[in-house]
Amino acid sequence: AAKNAGKNRLAVFDPGLRDTRLEHARLSTGLRHAVAQRELTLNYQPVVGLTGGEITAVEALLRWTPTGGKPVRPDIFIPIAEETGLIVPIGLWVLEQACADARRWHERHGISVTVNVSGRQLRDESFSDAALAILRRHDLPEQALVLEITESMLLATTPAETRRIIDVLTELREQGVRIALDDFGTGYSSLSYLRTLPVDILKIDRSFTSALTEADSRTRAFTKAIVELATSLSLHTVVEGVETSEQAALLQQMGCPLAQGYLFSPPVPAPRVDELLDTAPWRNAA
Ligand code: C2E
Ligand code: MG
Ligand code: MG
Ligand code: MG
Repeated sequence: AAKNAGKNRLAVFDPGLRDTRLEHARLSTGLRHAVAQRELTLNYQPVVGLTGGEITAVEALLRWTPTGGKPVRPDIFIPIAEETGLIVPIGLWVLEQACADARRWHERHGISVTVNVSGRQLRDESFSDAALAILRRHDLPEQALVLEITESMLLATTPAETRRIIDVLTELREQGVRIALDDFGTGYSSLSYLRTLPVDILKIDRSFTSALTEADSRTRAFTKAIVELATSLSLHTVVEGVETSEQAALLQQMGCPLAQGYLFSPPVPAPRVDELLDTAPWRNAA
C-alpha cells in the first residue's frame, strides 16, 4: 500500500528512484574513464551457416569491468554511454579494437566482423571518414566490416538527424561496408524502416527464436514470412539467440541461412575465436 501511495507523489521523493539516479551518476562518472583505464574489452560471438556449420562472421560485443568492481551489463551501460555522448569515443575504441582483432581472422579465414553502432555515432558526419580510416589503418577491406544498427535508434531522432544517419550509412555502403538491421521485428515499424534504410542483412530478434517451438504456430509463420521477405529482397538473414538444435533445424527448414546463439558459442574473448575458427564447422549445426 505504501508503495502504491508513493507512486502518486512527486517522483523525487521515491527512494528507489533516488538510488537509480545515484547509480546512474556513479556509472556515468566511471564510464568517462573506462577507455583510458583500459576497463573495456570485446568478446566475439560467431555467426554460423545453418547448413554447413561454418563461421562466416563474428559479432563484437562490448564488456565493461570497472577497476576493482564487477562487470556491468551492456544493457545497463550502453544507454548511459548514449545519453552522455560517451558512446562516441567508446564506439571509436570498439571499432579500432574490432578491426585490429579481425585482421588476422579475415586474412586466414575470410570472415567479417560485425560492430554494433548507436545513432549518436552515426549522426556525426565525420563517422564515415573515421570508420574508413580505421579500416585502412588495419589493412582491412571495406567488405570485412558490417555495422549493426537498430530501428529503435531512429525513434529519438529528428527528421534532419534521420536524414543524416541515412546519408552516413549510404556513404559507407557505397564504399563496401555492409549494414545489418539488428533486433528486427521488435520495433513499431520494422517494415517501413526496411523500405527506407540502406540495409544488406536482417537480424531476426531472439524473441522469435525462443517462441519457435511453442504449440501456437504464429511465431513460426511470422519467422518464415520474414525469411522469405528478406530472401526476395536479396538480403541475408541471421537469426539471433539459437539455443537448441530443434530451433536450428526448424530455421534451416525455413530457408534461414545464418544463425547466432549459445548452441554454437556464447560471446568469447579474441584468443578463443582463433580456436573456434580452427575447430569449426560445428557438427551440431542443423
Ligand atoms: P545485440 O547486438 O542484439 O547482441 C546480442 C545479445 O544477445 C548479446 O548480449 C549476446 O550475448 C546475447 N546472446 C547471444 N546468443 C544468445 C542466446 O543464444 N541466448 C540469449 N539469451 N542471449 C544470447 P550482450 O552482449 O549483453 O549485448 C546486449 C546489447 O548491447 C547488444 O544486443 C547491443 O545492442 C548492445 N551492445 C553490445 N556491444 C555494443 C557496442 O559495442 N556498441 C553498441 N552501440 N551497442 C553494443
Ligand atoms: Mg548486434
Ligand atoms: Mg540483436
Ligand atoms: Mg539486442
